[in-house]
Amino acid sequence: MPKKQQDISAVDKVFIISAIKGITKLLIRFLRNLKEAVLIELKLKKRSDHVVTVQYPDEIQEYPLRYRGRHRLTLDDEGNIKCTSCFLCATACPAKCIYIEPAQHPEPGVEKFPHRYEIDTLLCIYCGFCVEACPVDAIRMDTGIHPDVYPSNPNNFIEDKEVLLRRSLLLKKFGREKIVEAHLKKMKEYEQNKIFFEVNDYING
Ligand code: SF4
Ligand code: SF4
Repeated sequence: MPKKQQDISAVDKVFIISAIKGITKLLIRFLRNLKEAVLIELKLKKRSDHVVTVQYPDEIQEYPLRYRGRHRLTLDDEGNIKCTSCFLCATACPAKCIYIEPAQHPEPGVEKFPHRYEIDTLLCIYCGFCVEACPVDAIRMDTGIHPDVYPSNPNNFIEDKEVLLRRSLLLKKFGREKIVEAHLKKMKEYEQNKIFFEVNDYING
């Protein structure tokens, strides 16, 4: 006697229907994304309406005002470094990535200044604790730029006093908008050529 074909259970039916629905959805999305990718490749479209990834550095997200960008050491009205080498930032830093070597300041009224000030940005977690800890507003993270994507030299990850001070000078001279613009231009160069340029190579003046 031939074996009677078993009925498909209700659970199996639900499973099969869900699987078919899932595969159909996946196929539709795959074909849609493929079409968009071809259009972008043929330069008939700038970007996909369905892909949420920001095409950095061609596009940039609007950062909030309190965005913690790359550090800078601030200067007073006479152009002197504000930092007094009190070590509060280094003490507050959870990543222990701030290295300070203090020195005696030539002015009798000022106790110390940083002969050497370095931040190892590979260790930095951009928490901003150093900024909060500083009693004299000597360190800020208001540059609006973030770490480079492709530094050609690993030493560039260690930002010394000169780099941190220069950032303040550039910010004062050109403003945040221009600094961010130059940074994006630099990132595009990285993308295209993977070569290193300084931000101010892109700023005239
Ligand atoms: S942002 Fe945070 S981790 Fe980075 S140097 Fe400042 S305190 Fe340290
Ligand atoms: S940056 Fe501020 S907290 Fe850090 S050593 Fe200088 S004065 Fe002190």
